[in-house]
Amino acid sequence: MSGSHQVVIVGAGFSGITASRVLARAGINVLLIDRNSYHTFIPLLYQVATGLLQPQQVIYPVGRVLKNYPQARFLQAEVNDIDFERQIAYTNAGEIDYDFLILATGSQPQFSEVPGASEHSKPVVSLSDAVKLRQHLLTCIEQAKQELIPEQLQSLLTFVIVGGGPTGVEIAGGLSELLQTLLADYPKLRQQSEVILLQSRDRLLVNFPEILSTYTARHLHRKGVKLQFSTRRRVKRVTPEVVELEDGTTISTVTTIWTAGVEANPVTDTTDIPTARKGKIVVQSTLQIPNYANVYAIGDVAYVKLRDEVLAGVAPEALQQGEAAAHNILKQIRGESPQPFQYIDKGKAAIIGRNAGVVSKDELQLKGISGWLMWLGIHLYYLPGGRNRLNVAYSWICDCLLHSRFVKPITPPYPEFKSFPSASKPILTVSRGSKPMKYIPLIGRSFLSTIFLYSAISKIFSFAATQQMIADRGLPFPALMLLGNIIFQLVGGISLILGYKTRIGACLLIAFLIPTTLVFHNFLADPTETTAFLKNLGLIGALLMVSYFGAGPVSLDTGNHFDQV
Ligand SMILES: Cc1cc2nc3c(=O)[nH]c(=O)nc-3n(C[C@H](O)[C@H](O)[C@H](O)COP(=O)(O)OP(=O)(O)OC[C@H]3O[C@@H](n4cnc5c(N)ncnc54)[C@H](O)[C@@H]3O)c2cc1C
Repeated sequence: MSGSHQVVIVGAGFSGITASRVLARAGINVLLIDRNSYHTFIPLLYQVATGLLQPQQVIYPVGRVLKNYPQARFLQAEVNDIDFERQIAYTNAGEIDYDFLILATGSQPQFSEVPGASEHSKPVVSLSDAVKLRQHLLTCIEQAKQELIPEQLQSLLTFVIVGGGPTGVEIAGGLSELLQTLLADYPKLRQQSEVILLQSRDRLLVNFPEILSTYTARHLHRKGVKLQFSTRRRVKRVTPEVVELEDGTTISTVTTIWTAGVEANPVTDTTDIPTARKGKIVVQSTLQIPNYANVYAIGDVAYVKLRDEVLAGVAPEALQQGEAAAHNILKQIRGESPQPFQYIDKGKAAIIGRNAGVVSKDELQLKGISGWLMWLGIHLYYLPGGRNRLNVAYSWICDCLLHSRFVKPITPPYPEFKSFPSASKPILTVSRGSKPMKYIPLIGRSFLSTIFLYSAISKIFSFAATQQMIADRGLPFPALMLLGNIIFQLVGGISLILGYKTRIGACLLIAFLIPTTLVFHNFLADPTETTAFLKNLGLIGALLMVSYFGAGPVSLDTGNHFDQV
């Protein structure tokens, strides 16, 4: 496939990442742009906010997603405008020309013009939102432990969630569990604390079958969440201390969590392109923007109508649209016509808290533990990064078994995104998004690889003698065993040096070191081999560290602050 076309993708969310992978795999020049250096797994943000997960467990470096595709590059920049006629994207890092453009910029909170909502309520659509909310919740709880004036105490311990969709339900369940953990030693405060979920419809989770809504409401009620349903009790105003409802009631609280919907985040002036409700860009059935055959809008930013049904804006839609838009661009490059997008509905799922979830797919309806397990399985499967999956699974298991979570505050400051100085000329080169390797893993890895290469080379030179040693121990196929050992040590050692497939290299070496330690340097059978035996155990330990922490290029610093959060 011709490599001369430049495809620019704005947004490294679910849809943008998928599109960039398909195009890069086909050998197309892809430039993926995002304001952050990481991809955020949005569905798990509420668990960061409620202290179950750490922020770094739900993000993944964008540069690493594309590392195997030389034609794909990543630019960390904010896109401010697009000139569809001149085919230029304006970013804070300069102007970028494109042949094809994919807009995949997702959504932002929709405050429905409720006065004070954008200023005083707390949405949960980005990592920064989740971290701020968590910090706020922990601060409220800590202050409540010291507060003496009853009104202030009540205000600190009242948590209002606006919106009874999946996110509102998930936060309500997670928050009640957080309070249970943090106020375990303060029964009076626990009794006084209130989680109020305001829903302006007559049931929760309106997109789910009614039986699952009823189950959800019952389960939240059992967790102590107060549910308030009423169209007359919509939120009228939010202030730093009060939520005011349309029927005149007020709730004193310093915490209003806004989960009452999202709207498109189009990043460009949309006066010349058709838009629909929630500011979404109307696209044709092929996902192209009308009048601009080389521009696609996908994911939450797009208004996609299929057989009279408007897609809701969930991750499976974004993933499938990313793939479809990329395939359509490949078709256009080949001189073929783009094809209409077909959506395969994967169903809906929501989690209500520990051991309870709901899933609905056609006739299949799961609730309780089966729904919960299904939800966990789906999210673990789609979460990018092996280490993230392991860590998240570990956190879930601990939470489930111990019924408590290790909630630690995240130390400020949290730098907001700062614009780069604007480049006066169009940029010519872009970064691949990775920071230089960290020195300590690098030194450790070099040390380990030296030992393995040295060991492999010495085995090559003493091949006959080592072969004889294996044969003396009565082991089968001594030559083959020795050869396999040498090959694994060479491959593993080289992979550690190059940083390529580091973890696989480390795992290969562990796989060979364990039998080697037990058989070649069998300390129990031959005590004279103590040093070699202990050395091998040390190496296995060191390699386990490498395979866990991954000493490959490290592109995220998740220490005390977050890159551009
Ligand atoms: C709290 C919450 C929970 C959710 N839970 C679920 C769930 O459980 N299951 C499910 O299926 N769906 C869920 N969704 C919906 C799902 O997350 C979205 O449908 C999906 O993320 C949309 O993918 P996207 O690629 O369109 O956008 P996103 O994944 O939002 O990615 C957009 C990207 O564009 C970047 N960007 C935005 N503006 C700019 C700019 N100007 N310049 C550069 N970069 C920019 C952003 O940094 C971001 O990386 C949830 C949504 C929310 C808000």
